[in-house]
Amino acid sequence: MTNNLITPDFRFRRLRRTAALRELVRETHLRMSDFILPIFIEEGINEPVPIKTMPDVFRYPESQLAEVINRAWSKGIRAVLLFGVSTHKDEVGSDTWHDHGLLARMIQTAKAAQPEMLVISDNCFCEYTTHGHCGVVFKNDVDNDATLLNLQKQVVLAAQAGVDMIAPSGMMDGMITAIRQALDDAGFAHIPVMSYSTKFASAFYGPFRDAVDSSFKGTRNTYQMDFSNPREALAESMQDEAEGADILMVKPGTAYLDILAHIRANSTRPLAVYHVSGEYAMIKAGAAAGVIDEKAIVLETMTAFKRAGADLIITYYAERLADWI
Ligand SMILES: [Zn+2]
Repeated sequence: MTNNLITPDFRFRRLRRTAALRELVRETHLRMSDFILPIFIEEGINEPVPIKTMPDVFRYPESQLAEVINRAWSKGIRAVLLFGVSTHKDEVGSDTWHDHGLLARMIQTAKAAQPEMLVISDNCFCEYTTHGHCGVVFKNDVDNDATLLNLQKQVVLAAQAGVDMIAPSGMMDGMITAIRQALDDAGFAHIPVMSYSTKFASAFYGPFRDAVDSSFKGTRNTYQMDFSNPREALAESMQDEAEGADILMVKPGTAYLDILAHIRANSTRPLAVYHVSGEYAMIKAGAAAGVIDEKAIVLETMTAFKRAGADLIITYYAERLADWI
């Protein structure tokens, strides 16, 4: 009984009273099957090399890839994204389409270690070229169509090596059409393509340069997207859908929830988000400084991705999330 004259029309707090009630009406859930773990494999090292800007993330020697895959599997991770850090660089990244190159070897090793693990290859050239650009350089810029021809060779090689899914990250125009044609012609019509369909030129990639030991000093602004352009961001993903991409992606994530929601509203395809190195590093740094609760911040961030429309989350936190959810 109260003398208060205010009587709310509806009491939302009725369903917030207990943990069981809150769980019952929760709209967004995290599961281990939401997550994809990125793995860096470097040639020419014998021990894991810590990435100093990304605590708990390492570049692993090839000899430890099977162990890394098995550890991830035992934690409940069912999908990994492989990045190679090559010492066999040239002007065009030809190591990526040689049958004994790093890309092929990583895929074969990962599949041999855990045949049921979904092995995804990051398909680009920047870790395999001397100049660090994502393709063939002509007059100080990446030649789109020449790069597509090499990408076709690379994805067929990856498929022959046993990859389960192709993930082109170079933001070349027409890359999904080129990949789809090459895979289909080579007898790999069943291999899906997860496109980095809306990838922004972002300062959040800073620590990744450290992760892949890149001394790249140029700009990728002529192929990665301007982060000021939401209409173009939607168009990029819709174009890749039209070309046959099986899964779309937004990269980075935290600063791009509006883009995720916009694409979600316009596509029925599964949608992935890449929680990138800088987003990871910021949480780690904040936690190390004692200003945030790491676990709480990560769970809130991952939930925000799913709430905004992401089905899949690529994150360096995948293994820690196994302990937390
Ligand atoms: Zn690249």
